[in-house]
Amino acid sequence: MGRLVMKFGGTSVANIERIHNVARHVKREVDAGHDVAVVVSAMSGKTNELVAWASAASPMHDAREYDAVVASGEQITSGLLAIALQSLGVQARSWQGWQIPIQTSDAHASARILGIDGAELIKRFKERKEVAVVAGFQGIHEATGRITTLGRGGSDTSAVAIAAAIHADRCDIYTDVDGVYTTDPRVVPKAKRLDKVAFEEMLELASQGAKVLQVRSVELGMVHNVRVFVRSSFEKPEDIDPHGTPPGTLICSEEEIVESQVVTGIAFSKDEAQISVRHIEDKPGVAAAIFGPLADASINVDMIVQNISPDGKTTDLTFTVPASDYNRARDTIEKARDKIGYKTMDSATDVAKVSVIGIGMRSHAGVAAQAFKALSERNINIRAITTSEIKFSLLIDAAYTELAVRTLHTLYGLDQA
Ligand code: ASP
Ligand code: MG
Repeated sequence: MGRLVMKFGGTSVANIERIHNVARHVKREVDAGHDVAVVVSAMSGKTNELVAWASAASPMHDAREYDAVVASGEQITSGLLAIALQSLGVQARSWQGWQIPIQTSDAHASARILGIDGAELIKRFKERKEVAVVAGFQGIHEATGRITTLGRGGSDTSAVAIAAAIHADRCDIYTDVDGVYTTDPRVVPKAKRLDKVAFEEMLELASQGAKVLQVRSVELGMVHNVRVFVRSSFEKPEDIDPHGTPPGTLICSEEEIVESQVVTGIAFSKDEAQISVRHIEDKPGVAAAIFGPLADASINVDMIVQNISPDGKTTDLTFTVPASDYNRARDTIEKARDKIGYKTMDSATDVAKVSVIGIGMRSHAGVAAQAFKALSERNINIRAITTSEIKFSLLIDAAYTELAVRTLHTLYGLDQA
């Protein structure tokens, strides 16, 4: 007997039939003797619709009211699932973020969870075996009493936070893929499902473009050591042995991973833009003059490369920003032109970032060098490079993304036999 959080995404609760299917998944775990808290997303497409309504009401709208609108999708699915569970004879009730309460910051539309008191949920497990059906994505800012939301994809984060608060043995994320793969199987059909991934690796995979989980949920899992299991919601509840090991990927601490490969996975993102500021005088304070204004504009700079200009006297600085911030970033640099004192700026949006990730890199030298060689043999030019302890990223022309990912996947022995 244990305690579980089961999280279901939008496709799993897209209609009443699927909500009944989810209820049967939940009943299976309850019948196996577990305490269960379920976290649900809104029906697929619902949040997009609500966001569009808020914009239609006024393009410039109050973020507090935006949250009041978009949080409603999860209110509906939590109530519907509680009804479906009751119809199966399972004791259940729905919980909105403010009822538990899930306390958050007041950063509306991207609030952070500050604390959750799980005592009431635990008491109800003990006293009446009641399933808690929690609306994901939402919380409350205590001082103002206003509803908040956690940013798109935030119900993953709700689920992990609830798991930490009720001391769950595991947080199961039911989704439309059956786990985390070595890379996107649509690009590399030979991609393998990983049995286990360390939190640090998953954090890099998610930040570098793998879209399985919200990045923040992985951070929370790492901080609170919540074991997160990514599994498919399309399996029939009746086909699953509640005591067996279902297919999926466990995201856990490094200590739980006995044998690890040097490279675990390859992520990529085409939502990148490159900006090069050229012929800047090479003196102290220049980097601050460029990156200070970008930071003030809340633009996230990722890769940074500095080199000597062809004339030998000045320096060039190249960096990347999310494609969605590209125009703002260019404007920001142009406005600071006098302060920076550069000659030209050029930029490109048809670039992609490919990242190779693995905790094994800590103890192996020359991992990146192999990639440089393999890509050069394919005539793929590398525009920028960054490295960290367990990851390196390469900026290349977007047209070569698939080829680069496939080449590296084979190079590091990740292809399925
Ligand atoms: N419904 C929200 C969204 O679409 C939260 C979630 O699904 O995780 O972003
Ligand atoms: Mg999601």
